[in-house]
Amino acid sequence: MLSKRPQMRLQGLGPGFLLVILLAVFAAPACGRVYTLASGSAQGVYLPLANDMAVVARKSGVEIRVIPSEGSRQNLAWLAEGRADLALAQSDIAWNAYSGRGGFPKPVTSLRVIAPLYTEAIHILIQRTLYIHRIEDLRGKRIAVGPAGSGTETNAAQMLGAAGLTLAEVNARHLSIEESMAALRSGEIDAAFVTSAVPSPLVTGVLADRSATLLEPDRDFLERLRKIFPFYLTKNIETSDYPHLDEQVTTAGVQALLVGRDDIPAATIGHLVRAFSVSPELTAKYRLPSAGDGASDSEIPLFEEARSYYRLQSWLHQRKLFIGTVLFLLIATIAVLRFQRGIWRLLRRDGDRFLHAGIYLFVVWVGGSLMLYRAEHRINDNYASPWKSLWSGLITIYSLSGKEPLSLEGRVAAIIMFILGLGGLLWLIERFASFYVETKLLPLIRGGFARVHKMKNHYVIAGWNEKGVGIIKQLHGEELEHRHIVILAPEQAKGLPRHHKLIQVVHGERAYEDCLKEVNVSAAHSVIILADSAEPAEDARTILTILAIRKICSEQGLEPVPVSAEIVDSRNVKLAQYAGGEQDGRLEVVSSNDVGRSLLTQAAVHPGLFTVYSQLLEFKKNNSEIHRAPMPSSFVDKSFEEILTQSATNRERKIYVMPIAIQREGKIHINPARDALGKLAASDFLFALCDSPKNLENLS
Ligand code: GLU
Repeated sequence: MLSKRPQMRLQGLGPGFLLVILLAVFAAPACGRVYTLASGSAQGVYLPLANDMAVVARKSGVEIRVIPSEGSRQNLAWLAEGRADLALAQSDIAWNAYSGRGGFPKPVTSLRVIAPLYTEAIHILIQRTLYIHRIEDLRGKRIAVGPAGSGTETNAAQMLGAAGLTLAEVNARHLSIEESMAALRSGEIDAAFVTSAVPSPLVTGVLADRSATLLEPDRDFLERLRKIFPFYLTKNIETSDYPHLDEQVTTAGVQALLVGRDDIPAATIGHLVRAFSVSPELTAKYRLPSAGDGASDSEIPLFEEARSYYRLQSWLHQRKLFIGTVLFLLIATIAVLRFQRGIWRLLRRDGDRFLHAGIYLFVVWVGGSLMLYRAEHRINDNYASPWKSLWSGLITIYSLSGKEPLSLEGRVAAIIMFILGLGGLLWLIERFASFYVETKLLPLIRGGFARVHKMKNHYVIAGWNEKGVGIIKQLHGEELEHRHIVILAPEQAKGLPRHHKLIQVVHGERAYEDCLKEVNVSAAHSVIILADSAEPAEDARTILTILAIRKICSEQGLEPVPVSAEIVDSRNVKLAQYAGGEQDGRLEVVSSNDVGRSLLTQAAVHPGLFTVYSQLLEFKKNNSEIHRAPMPSSFVDKSFEEILTQSATNRERKIYVMPIAIQREGKIHINPARDALGKLAASDFLFALCDSPKNLENLS
């Protein structure tokens, strides 16, 4: 049976392929002979198509005379009788002719396919005033079934048959398309079958003046029809095909073919095939498939020349696809490399949690759609091209209805795709949920649901100047745990960051106790005091701030919160430290001028040193930083020199720590000389270069 839209099989490019190239280059068309092409009726698409084909053929040196007809069956009968050399015909009728059935007394074995054309739709037009929604309801109705000898007539009989009706059970009338449309308008008939390319100008007319509507056979019916007559395809009639169509109609379809008798010389067939497939007038106007797409001789054989030509085209097409894919990958790689940092940054924090689920879903979607395309593209309009398959595949992945496949292979693919797709979707949802919980809910919970006065373990920046932006970037920039940052700054402060889920700005005066209480300073992880301006008078407010924080903590019976304060004038550093009292190293007073100045001097003496400092001070993933921790128990009672050698030699525990300084009673001793400190005590603090403070804890 002509059960499939033909398929192009790519075997190696054999001698036939070379032959066709030689023929293409050297052979001239057979001179003098005029070929007759049996076409269709004046109102159909076959006739104008045949006329256009004749014009194109003439340009390539082949003379064609077009003869009008009633349609497919008559065309093929004429071909068998020798009245026509070429014919336009529906694939179902051509198969009947080739195998000698359906009104053909004996097989027309000389029949050969030259080119598959478009899919014709079986339009079932119903009088607007009638409420007929099923083919079964056409019993006893007056129906135009096309001219006798047309393909339409055969299709009407088969479709009515599939609905359990014989031609005798309806009032069948053999009318041309034009007559059918006029009869629909005048109310002489109730329904009309028209098998034609879409859009058909006459059908456009009756839909436009609202004399008729298009009936959509239901899915079960189409399935039953395909079971009885497997050559039927599904064809979507789109709203873009007919301007007055309200919604897409899915109906049965058949493949239109250009066929010929096998006595046509090979060179002529070669010329025709090439001329038709490269003619933009034909391919665009009649929406013909690209050369050879869908051509095979699994049912009715192709002409040898046509087969070789299509094989070559398909091979070139696949090469084009291959080159296209390579180019796409190349451009994508260049783009990724070019914008790598941006993409990387995006992916690094949150991307990879979605990446795997995303890739999985993408693979299921594309892979499944391509499988569906393979299984369905010849029989199902929804999967006719890879693009349509991708769209239909997307629908299939989340529902098993809508773009339902017709073949067994397609259905199996759809079910697998549905199950895998559902798994992927759940996976993605789980990823989103955990992302939401981790990045939105947990910080909210940790930060007392962002109510500043209840926040815990947050950073407080008291005061604001341009350094703040850099500080926030460092605190939030890299892989550090994301804590809330609360900025306490006067309203007129410049360059305050915009509101962010982890950044809150509270307007107020940093030295005032109640403002500091509002940002819950005593529960903070640490406080950074910034000078609001470079005026030395700022230092007085900074010192007041230190005192206020100290007072709040002690009133609440809490440990003093660690404070780093910026002092404008280095002469005030001592005073600020005094204000901090016995802070056990929890008060850091930094004179920006001093640090800046001494760094400049040092860098001038040892070029490169500034980079060392700034990298040590920077928070970065996979980068050792300076950490401070209580003296690990394994270091207690040893000298600084001993712990240095122990760290350098003790590698079996894979803990890499480089001791730098000891803090004893608030005083820091960097790399203390042999007898400066004596034995290390449990109350001392250790500063060391290591990957994380955990390394120091692990030494205990
Ligand atoms: N397929 C129709 C038939 O064979 C003819 C369509 C047309 O002329 O466009 O009856």
